[in-house]
Amino acid sequence: MTKGRVYIISGPSGSGKDTVMKKLFERKPEIAFSISSITRPMRPGEVEGEKYNFISRERFEQMIQNDELLEHNVFVGNYYGTPKAPVFNCIESGRDMLIEVDVNGAAQIRHKLPSAISIFVMPPSLEVLKNRLNGRGTDGADVIEKRLNEALREIASAKDYDYIVINDNLDAAVDDFVTIMSVDRFKTDRNIELINNILNK
Ligand code: 5GP
Repeated sequence: MTKGRVYIISGPSGSGKDTVMKKLFERKPEIAFSISSITRPMRPGEVEGEKYNFISRERFEQMIQNDELLEHNVFVGNYYGTPKAPVFNCIESGRDMLIEVDVNGAAQIRHKLPSAISIFVMPPSLEVLKNRLNGRGTDGADVIEKRLNEALREIASAKDYDYIVINDNLDAAVDDFVTIMSVDRFKTDRNIELINNILNK
Protein backbone atom coordinates (compact mmCIF):
# COMPACT_ATOMS: atom_id res chain seq x y z
CA MET A 1 0.00 0.00 0.00
CA THR A 2 1.21 3.52 -0.75
CA LYS A 3 2.16 5.23 2.49
CA GLY A 4 0.44 8.40 3.61
CA ARG A 5 2.29 11.69 3.35
CA VAL A 6 3.41 13.74 6.33
CA TYR A 7 2.78 17.46 5.86
CA ILE A 8 4.67 19.67 8.28
CA ILE A 9 3.06 23.04 8.98
CA SER A 10 4.88 25.83 10.79
CA GLY A 11 4.41 29.53 11.18
CA PRO A 12 5.02 31.96 14.00
CA SER A 13 2.39 32.69 16.64
CA GLY A 14 0.25 35.33 14.97
CA SER A 15 0.67 33.92 11.45
CA GLY A 16 -2.89 32.67 11.69
CA LYS A 17 -1.94 29.06 11.04
CA ASP A 18 -4.49 27.71 13.54
CA THR A 19 -7.34 29.31 11.61
CA VAL A 20 -5.87 28.13 8.31
CA MET A 21 -5.65 24.58 9.71
CA LYS A 22 -9.23 24.67 11.03
CA LYS A 23 -10.55 25.65 7.59
CA LEU A 24 -8.26 23.17 5.88
CA PHE A 25 -9.68 20.28 7.93
CA GLU A 26 -13.20 21.37 6.97
CA ARG A 27 -12.16 21.07 3.31
CA LYS A 28 -10.02 17.93 3.74
CA PRO A 29 -11.38 15.89 6.68
CA GLU A 30 -9.58 12.81 5.37
CA ILE A 31 -6.29 14.21 6.63
CA ALA A 32 -5.27 13.19 10.16
CA PHE A 33 -3.83 15.64 12.67
CA SER A 34 -0.95 14.90 15.01
CA ILE A 35 -1.88 15.82 18.58
CA SER A 36 1.20 17.22 20.32
CA SER A 37 2.10 16.58 23.94
CA ILE A 38 2.95 19.86 25.64
CA THR A 39 3.71 21.18 29.13
CA ARG A 40 2.43 24.75 28.77
CA PRO A 41 -0.68 25.63 30.79
CA MET A 42 -3.98 25.37 28.96
CA ARG A 43 -5.30 28.66 27.52
CA PRO A 44 -8.97 29.61 27.85
CA GLY A 45 -10.94 27.86 25.13
CA GLU A 46 -8.44 25.07 24.63
CA VAL A 47 -9.69 21.52 24.98
CA GLU A 48 -7.58 18.60 26.21
CA GLY A 49 -6.90 16.14 23.39
CA GLU A 50 -8.12 18.41 20.59
CA LYS A 51 -4.88 19.99 19.42
CA TYR A 52 -2.71 19.22 22.42
CA ASN A 53 -2.38 16.74 25.24
CA PHE A 54 -1.46 18.83 28.28
CA ILE A 55 0.97 16.77 30.33
CA SER A 56 3.40 17.30 33.24
CA ARG A 57 7.11 17.98 32.77
CA GLU A 58 7.81 14.64 34.49
CA ARG A 59 5.68 12.72 31.99
CA PHE A 60 7.25 14.63 29.09
CA GLU A 61 10.78 13.83 30.27
CA GLN A 62 9.75 10.20 30.59
CA MET A 63 8.55 10.27 26.94
CA ILE A 64 11.97 11.64 25.89
CA GLN A 65 13.74 8.89 27.87
CA ASN A 66 11.51 6.17 26.36
CA ASP A 67 12.12 7.50 22.83
CA GLU A 68 8.35 7.99 22.38
CA LEU A 69 8.72 11.28 20.49
CA LEU A 70 9.39 11.88 16.80
CA GLU A 71 10.68 15.34 17.72
CA HIS A 72 10.54 17.71 20.63
CA ASN A 73 11.57 21.21 21.52
CA VAL A 74 11.44 23.80 24.29
CA PHE A 75 9.41 26.84 23.25
CA VAL A 76 9.14 29.88 25.57
CA GLY A 77 10.06 27.67 28.54
CA ASN A 78 7.69 24.76 27.82
CA TYR A 79 8.15 21.39 26.17
CA TYR A 80 6.33 20.62 22.91
CA GLY A 81 6.62 17.23 21.24
CA THR A 82 5.15 14.95 18.57
CA PRO A 83 4.36 11.42 19.78
CA LYS A 84 5.95 8.99 17.34
CA ALA A 85 3.53 6.03 17.29
CA PRO A 86 0.41 7.82 15.95
CA VAL A 87 2.44 9.30 13.07
CA PHE A 88 3.86 5.98 11.92
CA ASN A 89 0.55 4.13 12.41
CA CYS A 90 -1.19 6.77 10.32
CA ILE A 91 1.18 6.87 7.36
CA GLU A 92 1.57 3.08 7.35
CA SER A 93 -2.22 2.85 6.96
CA GLY A 94 -2.01 5.06 3.87
CA ARG A 95 -3.53 8.16 5.46
CA ASP A 96 -1.94 11.60 5.16
CA MET A 97 -1.12 13.47 8.36
CA LEU A 98 -0.57 17.11 9.21
CA ILE A 99 1.98 17.84 11.94
CA GLU A 100 2.17 21.35 13.36
CA VAL A 101 5.59 22.11 14.82
CA ASP A 102 7.98 25.01 15.26
CA VAL A 103 10.98 25.36 12.93
CA ASN A 104 13.20 23.30 15.20
CA GLY A 105 10.71 20.43 15.26
CA ALA A 106 10.34 20.70 11.47
CA ALA A 107 14.10 20.26 11.02
CA GLN A 108 14.04 17.16 13.23
CA ILE A 109 11.15 15.63 11.26
CA ARG A 110 12.78 16.42 7.88
CA HIS A 111 15.87 14.59 9.08
CA LYS A 112 13.90 11.51 10.18
CA LEU A 113 11.28 11.57 7.41
CA PRO A 114 12.88 13.10 4.30
CA SER A 115 9.71 12.51 2.27
CA ALA A 116 7.73 14.90 4.49
CA ILE A 117 6.48 18.06 2.74
CA SER A 118 6.96 21.22 4.76
CA ILE A 119 4.79 24.32 4.47
CA PHE A 120 5.44 27.64 6.24
CA VAL A 121 2.55 30.01 6.95
CA MET A 122 3.82 33.56 6.64
CA PRO A 123 2.10 36.68 7.96
CA PRO A 124 1.81 39.32 5.20
CA SER A 125 3.91 41.86 7.14
CA LEU A 126 5.60 42.55 10.47
CA GLU A 127 2.87 45.07 11.33
CA VAL A 128 0.12 42.52 10.81
CA LEU A 129 2.07 40.02 12.92
CA LYS A 130 2.47 42.52 15.78
CA ASN A 131 -1.21 43.44 15.66
CA ARG A 132 -2.27 39.81 15.73
CA LEU A 133 -0.01 39.07 18.73
CA ASN A 134 -1.32 42.10 20.65
CA GLY A 135 -4.92 41.37 19.73
CA ARG A 136 -4.96 37.87 21.17
CA GLY A 137 -5.38 39.28 24.69
CA THR A 138 -4.40 36.07 26.47
CA ASP A 139 -0.70 36.76 27.09
CA GLY A 140 1.14 39.45 29.07
CA ALA A 141 3.50 42.04 27.49
CA ASP A 142 6.62 40.01 28.37
CA VAL A 143 5.20 36.88 26.72
CA ILE A 144 4.17 38.91 23.63
CA GLU A 145 7.70 40.29 23.38
CA LYS A 146 9.17 36.77 23.62
CA ARG A 147 6.72 35.49 21.01
CA LEU A 148 7.61 38.33 18.64
CA ASN A 149 11.34 37.60 18.94
CA GLU A 150 10.61 33.92 18.44
CA ALA A 151 8.48 34.80 15.38
CA LEU A 152 11.34 36.68 13.74
CA ARG A 153 13.71 33.78 14.45
CA GLU A 154 11.17 31.37 12.89
CA ILE A 155 10.69 33.55 9.79
CA ALA A 156 14.46 33.44 9.25
CA SER A 157 14.11 29.63 8.86
CA ALA A 158 11.28 29.82 6.33
CA LYS A 159 13.75 29.30 3.48
CA ASP A 160 14.23 25.68 4.62
CA TYR A 161 10.59 24.85 3.80
CA ASP A 162 9.25 23.35 0.57
CA TYR A 163 6.42 25.87 0.33
CA ILE A 164 5.53 29.31 1.72
CA VAL A 165 1.86 30.25 2.06
CA ILE A 166 1.14 33.91 2.83
CA ASN A 167 -1.86 34.26 5.11
CA ASP A 168 -3.24 37.60 4.04
CA ASN A 169 -6.64 36.33 2.97
CA LEU A 170 -7.78 33.22 4.87
CA ASP A 171 -9.71 31.53 2.06
CA ALA A 172 -6.87 32.12 -0.40
CA ALA A 173 -4.37 30.63 2.06
CA VAL A 174 -6.54 27.53 2.50
CA ASP A 175 -6.87 27.26 -1.30
CA ASP A 176 -3.07 27.36 -1.50
CA PHE A 177 -2.79 24.44 0.94
CA VAL A 178 -5.35 22.43 -1.01
CA THR A 179 -3.43 23.14 -4.24
CA ILE A 180 -0.13 21.99 -2.73
CA MET A 181 -1.76 18.80 -1.48
CA SER A 182 -3.49 18.18 -4.82
CA VAL A 183 -0.27 18.55 -6.81
CA ASP A 184 1.51 16.29 -4.33
CA ARG A 185 -0.71 13.38 -5.42
CA PHE A 186 1.09 13.42 -8.79
CA LYS A 187 4.59 13.15 -7.32
CA THR A 188 6.42 10.05 -8.51
CA ASP A 189 7.03 8.67 -5.02
CA ARG A 190 3.26 8.52 -4.49
CA ASN A 191 2.75 6.53 -7.70
CA ILE A 192 5.37 3.79 -7.48
CA GLU A 193 2.66 1.22 -6.75
CA LEU A 194 0.72 2.29 -9.84
CA ILE A 195 3.84 1.97 -12.02
CA ASN A 196 4.60 -1.47 -10.59
CA ASN A 197 1.00 -2.63 -11.01
CA ILE A 198 1.00 -1.67 -14.68
CA LEU A 199 4.34 -3.34 -15.31
CA ASN A 200 3.24 -6.52 -13.53
CA LYS A 201 0.13 -6.97 -15.68
P1 5GP B 1 1.37 27.71 21.10
O1 5GP B 1 1.87 27.71 22.53
O2 5GP B 1 1.16 29.10 20.57
O3 5GP B 1 0.18 26.82 20.92
O4 5GP B 1 2.53 27.07 20.21
C1 5GP B 1 3.82 27.59 20.28
C2 5GP B 1 4.67 26.99 19.18
O5 5GP B 1 4.85 25.59 19.36
C3 5GP B 1 4.09 27.16 17.79
O6 5GP B 1 5.11 27.62 16.92
C4 5GP B 1 3.66 25.76 17.42
O7 5GP B 1 3.73 25.56 16.03
C5 5GP B 1 4.70 24.94 18.12
N1 5GP B 1 4.30 23.55 18.34
C6 5GP B 1 3.06 23.03 18.52
N2 5GP B 1 3.13 21.70 18.68
C7 5GP B 1 4.43 21.37 18.60
C8 5GP B 1 5.15 20.13 18.66
O8 5GP B 1 4.60 19.05 18.84
N3 5GP B 1 6.49 20.19 18.53
C9 5GP B 1 7.17 21.35 18.32
N4 5GP B 1 8.49 21.28 18.16
N5 5GP B 1 6.53 22.54 18.25
C10 5GP B 1 5.18 22.54 18.38
